[in-house]
Amino acid sequence: MEYPSKLVENAVNEISRLPGIGKKTALRLVLHLLKEDENTTYALTESLNDLRSKTRYCRECQNISDADLCQVCQSHRRDRSIICVVEDTRDVLAIENTAQYQGLYHVLGGVISPIEGVGPAELNIEQLLRRIKEPGAQVKEIIFALSPTMEGDTTAFYLTKKLSEFNLEISTIARGIPIGGELEYADEITLGRSILSRTTYHRD
Ligand SMILES: [Zn+2]
Repeated sequence: MEYPSKLVENAVNEISRLPGIGKKTALRLVLHLLKEDENTTYALTESLNDLRSKTRYCRECQNISDADLCQVCQSHRRDRSIICVVEDTRDVLAIENTAQYQGLYHVLGGVISPIEGVGPAELNIEQLLRRIKEPGAQVKEIIFALSPTMEGDTTAFYLTKKLSEFNLEISTIARGIPIGGELEYADEITLGRSILSRTTYHRD
């Protein structure tokens, strides 16, 4: 594609790196920004800079947080004996929206995927083990709420082996969710029910 200027081309290249945005869409966005008041662009770049430089992760569950501890981990009303293990922040939001779960979370930051070069060391697995081992820890049950994909299953299998040295109940959310469907797209009622009717995890 020919661009009217190097500046436009650079902006198009950067924006089109985002998932789901091709060069055409990026060009449309760039031209839109040039037409808008310049404050629109400044506000956008400032919010993105802040997002990168100021976003923190909860020291317990590794979810995105404004503070050292996220609101869920801070709350006195949550059941500290259960940790629900999820892939990312979107899953926490999906499960919180069901209002059916009162335990804590642990955000792995992905799932094991050899094809994409994601191994256990790239995930927040050590932090999970630390939470279970730490003095005064009350964890009795771990629930896997991972996508029903090969990567999700591999991750659950790996974690179960890692967790076998602790005396924990390990369960997985009931699969009311269509195979290959991702957790974040499951409707709230189905997801809420699948947490309540979770089943003991069997390694086989
Ligand atoms: Zn937290």
